[in-house]
Parts: sequence; structure tokens; C-alpha cells
Amino acid sequence: MPASVETSVPSVPSSPHTMNTYGRLPIALSHGQGVRVWDTNGKSYLDGLGGIAVNTVGHNHPKLVPALQDQIAKIIHSSNYYHVPNQEKLAAKLVDLAGFSDNGGKVFFCCTGLEANEAAIKLARKFGHDKGIERPEIVVYEKAFHGRSIATLSATGNEKVQKGFGPLVEGFIRVPLNDIDALKKATEGNPNVVAVFFETIQGEGGINAMRIDYLQQLRKLCDERDWLMMIDEVQCGMGRTGKWFAHQWAGIQPDVMPLAKGLGSGVPIGAVVAGPKAADIFQPGNHGTTFGGNPLAMRAGVETIRIIEEEGLLENAAKVGAHLKEAFGEQLAGLKGVKEIRGQGLMLGIELDRPCGVLVQRAAEQGLLMSVTADSVIRLVPPLILTEAEADEIVAIVCPLIQQFLAEPVAP
Ligand SMILES: *Cc1c(COP(=O)(O)O)cnc(C)c1O
Repeated sequence: MPASVETSVPSVPSSPHTMNTYGRLPIALSHGQGVRVWDTNGKSYLDGLGGIAVNTVGHNHPKLVPALQDQIAKIIHSSNYYHVPNQEKLAAKLVDLAGFSDNGGKVFFCCTGLEANEAAIKLARKFGHDKGIERPEIVVYEKAFHGRSIATLSATGNEKVQKGFGPLVEGFIRVPLNDIDALKKATEGNPNVVAVFFETIQGEGGINAMRIDYLQQLRKLCDERDWLMMIDEVQCGMGRTGKWFAHQWAGIQPDVMPLAKGLGSGVPIGAVVAGPKAADIFQPGNHGTTFGGNPLAMRAGVETIRIIEEEGLLENAAKVGAHLKEAFGEQLAGLKGVKEIRGQGLMLGIELDRPCGVLVQRAAEQGLLMSVTADSVIRLVPPLILTEAEADEIVAIVCPLIQQFLAEPVAP
């Protein structure tokens, strides 16, 4: 293999009729059971990716599948011209989990993460306009990922995502993570700031966490300056870190919280949960989406939360995640080239000192699905039903791969 492509994932030619947007592995999955999936050749894999933090309750879950079958037979889609009873049910549940049940929290439903973030950005702008700020600005972060619509890629802190799609949307101020002084300096004397917008733990950016003390300082600053705190929990939310939402480890509450990925265990769904400060910003005609909150997606959300509760998956994510992190720590201790093992619960990253995209293919050959993000960070975001025994299997595949990889000469 020539050195220049050494670190990229080998891909097979795309089908002639689908756009060439993904560097795909030469694998097609046909079915799954729990944390295991099989490809169309019958090879089995441990699913360390969970469809990128989406398959919360694993594959073919015995409670989720019959519930979805029942829903499909009744009605898949109606329209927001009518009431959808499970919208109210899921919204009430999310408001409760986010701690807003006593003070008027509300939810807007959509279908994807970027769409939830797009709604958050619109909320922040209207929040500004409602108080006379005509050119509202939103603080965003280095290495952030918020999606690939024009507004959300503008909020994203990754030039690769933005390249070729300018002009970007204006009204974003970018700051480094975990540096309250830098934030104060960047916004000093600026009356147009209306919100700060961030991931509690950056997913695509390389599993980078906001520190607890920073989150608490930031909450205070948002209150003092009347800014909305908007926390993108699209990837780190829905139980992944061992709490419903990752920011809850800091004992704070956001004003606006976009969700998606794990909320429907694989059925496309997005949501924006708003606290009292943002719940009533949108009025009829301000926002909407055809598919948002449809009966199938709402049923998936309701059942996903029910299963997380009934099966103690928050506790499981915390316990098995800690076990996994500890096992990696032991196995990789002292290995030169491993920079850091980080993350919380079942959202873990292992940062190497060099690009390691090639490991995705090698892991798949060994029967493990995982990803590499930010070029050099191995990312594991498996279903929350992962057992310690399955975690040990992951470690037994990943660690030798890392050891072997780091012993290879570095490409010039
Ligand atoms: C994946 C992701 C998004 C975008 O979600 P899509 O459903 O792909 O649009 C936004 N924010 C974060 C933190 C994500 O991980």
C-alpha cells in the first residue's frame, strides 16, 4: 500500500447510483442480535460502534422489536396537522429526565442531530431578536461537531467539514475548550452574544470533555449575562455516560438541549429539549418539519427510554464503561504512542500519537466494529447493553492491534 493512503480507510467503489459521500468499509451488515452483528457473508462482529452511538439497546431487542412492529401495523406517519399522542408522552418524559418538569420545559421533535441543532440555533437567534438584538451571535468551540447543514457546519469547529461550502453562516464566535478567561475575552463588551453552544463530551472531535468546574463556571456566566446555555447532547446523551445527559455529572441544567442519535435506538429521531428560558420562544409558524415527531419515531423513543429504565442501562453503561476503561489502562500502560485513554461510560476514546484510521479495517477483520475520529482517536460507542465479558472481548481485539500498529515504522 502506498504511504500516502496508509492511514485512510480502504473503501470499495460506491454503487454507481449513490453519491460518493462516505469512505465505506467493504462490509454490508445483514442482521444483529444484542451487541453482535453479521455481514452478508455470515462473518460476525462485536458492535463497538452501535451505528455511531445510535443502537442504544442493541440489535433485535426483544422488547423494542414487537413494539415497533405493533406501531408500524397501526400507523407509521400521520402529520403535525394532528395530535400525535406519543409526542406528548415522550416530551413529558424528556422534560422530566432533563429536570424541567416543574418549570415548564418543552420539546420540539425532528429527525436528526443537525436538525435539532439547527432548531437550537434558530431558538438562540429569536431569543436575541425578541430582546432587540438584531445581529445575534453564538459562542461555539474549537473541534466541535454539530452537523452538516450550512448553519450547523458553520458552528462546527473543523475546517474539513467546512471546506468547499462557504460562505459560512455568520454569527458564531469560536473559543477553546475549558478556558473561561478566553471565553470572557472573546465576548468582552459584545452586547450581541445570545448563547453558548457546545457538546459536553465532543464526539467527532475526539472524545474531548468539558471539565466539570468549567461547566459550572459557564452556567454562572450564562445566568449573569442572560445567555442561553445550549448543550448538544446528540452523541453523549441518552444514558451513554451513565447519566441520562452527560452535563448532569456537573449538576447543571442547560436552557436548550438537542438530542438525536441514541434516542430512538435506530429509528431516525431528533429532539430539542428546552427549559423555561427557551420553551416558549417558538410560536406558531416559526418552525416545523414534516417527519418530526411521527408516530413510529415517537414509539421508538418511548420504548427506548422504557428499556433503559427497566434494564438499568445507565448503571450498566457506567459500570461496564469503567471496566472497559480500566482494562485498556492496564493493557496499554506504559505503551509509548498511546497518548490518552479518555471518556466516560460507554463513550471512550484512545488517542494515539499518530493517525490510525487503518485500524478500523484491521479491527473489522478481527471481528470488531469501531471507528477512528479526529484522525488519531479510536472511538468506542457500543450499545448500552454491553456486558463486562463483551467488553473484555473488545479489549482482547483492540489492544494487540494497537501494540502491533505502534511497533510499525511510521509512514514518512
Ligand atoms: C452526529 C452528531 C450531530 C449530527 O447528527 P446527524 O443526525 O448526523 O445530523 C450533531 N452533533 C453531535 C454532537 C453529533 O455527534
